[in-house]
Amino acid sequence: MTRELDGKVALVTGATSGIGRATAVLFAKAGAKVVASGRREPEGQQTLELIRAAGGDGLFVQTDVSQASDVESLVQKTVDTFGRLDVAFNNAGIEGVWVPIARQSEADWDRTIAINLKGVWLCLKYEIRQMLKQGSAGAIVNMASVTGLVGGGGAAAYSASKHGVIGLTKSAALETARNRIRINAVCPAVIETPMEQRLFGAPAAHQSALAMHPLGRFGTPAEIAQAVLWMCSDRASFMTGQSLVLDGGFLAGPNAPS
Ligand code: NAD
Repeated sequence: MTRELDGKVALVTGATSGIGRATAVLFAKAGAKVVASGRREPEGQQTLELIRAAGGDGLFVQTDVSQASDVESLVQKTVDTFGRLDVAFNNAGIEGVWVPIARQSEADWDRTIAINLKGVWLCLKYEIRQMLKQGSAGAIVNMASVTGLVGGGGAAAYSASKHGVIGLTKSAALETARNRIRINAVCPAVIETPMEQRLFGAPAAHQSALAMHPLGRFGTPAEIAQAVLWMCSDRASFMTGQSLVLDGGFLAGPNAPS
């Protein structure tokens, strides 16, 4: 394959499973040194083993993206180890508890926003600071969702956090465009990951979610990873401030043939 990220240093949050792990491994195959981060040490080490098995080099840094000190030290360890930061995928997120607003706890709202929205803001803050210091071009992708573009009944905090990520992405892109730092978001519909299993693993939930995907299936982590790699590569050199939808037709309209 073309090694689009040869010589680059890339950071991925939430790289201990699902879409983040698949993207971290693909970044390594594309030639990047990859700093994989997440909260779970054993799973993080497994991601690192996959990176090495793919012929890559990297590092795992235990990080909770909702904690400023963790994110600051994640970027610092990246620079201490590999000398720079060129590419970042701010992917870490949680689904929270999916219940109507009237029954949602304040604690769940706070936790969802702290990880999904404040976490992306903290990552942007320290990543952009480092990229500006380097004075070289950079590319960042933030993880949103189709629920960053439409509401989700019963998923208000999650949907609000993902709408927020899209707003953050546009503002950050405007602030950094003249510094040649491109910042975009990715908006998947349902992708086969541990999160999908938690939300839609039960047969009835699986069937009703599947019916919202005109292609007749959920997406795979590899399909999202390929799009994120493209957005982070020079092949997407004129793209910034945008949200790329990968949804099997989910947002095309409400009347998919069954
Ligand atoms: P996942 O649960 O496998 O992965 C989420 C990752 O984020 C895990 O590695 C988890 O440990 C990590 N994480 C959670 N809280 C964290 C924190 N505070 N600090 C650091 N890491 C943390 O699920 P996934 O589907 O791979 O989710 C990845 C991202 O994709 C999430 O932001 C999710 O909202 C988004 N997304 C998923 C889907 C889907 O259907 N799977 C669709 C659209 C968007």
